[in-house]
Amino acid sequence: MHELSVLQQAVDLAEQTAIENNIPRIAYLTLEVGELSGYLPVFFHKYFPVATENKPVFEGTELNIISAPGEALCKECFAMYNVMREEGRCPKCGSRSKKILGGQEFKVKEIGIPDDAVERGQTAEDTTGPAGA
Ligand SMILES: [Zn+2]
Repeated sequence: MHELSVLQQAVDLAEQTAIENNIPRIAYLTLEVGELSGYLPVFFHKYFPVATENKPVFEGTELNIISAPGEALCKECFAMYNVMREEGRCPKCGSRSKKILGGQEFKVKEIGIPDDAVERGQTAEDTTGPAGA
């Protein structure tokens, strides 16, 4: 259930951003989830409808998940390797002593704005000119 709470935070952030920028609807939301974050992308897809319930900006929004590779630097021989693929053990020297370089992140990567939304937002604000009296 960890996924639901972090997803809710990401959804709230995206909604806030949309409202501040006068964007009526978000076309897609891209999240970056590290392989070592402990979060399973399948749950984000499962909980997305729950997290976006009663939020009109998310009507028809597509959820994209980008997986960030879990990379480590071996402390013994300084080889770089993928932690998931090598099961946490250096493929060169076999050491488990390592420094994690990436793959623990969870972040909002992109908020997709429909092409027509930007124009509509601008015209809505641009009402300074005198309208035919
Ligand atoms: Zn090594």
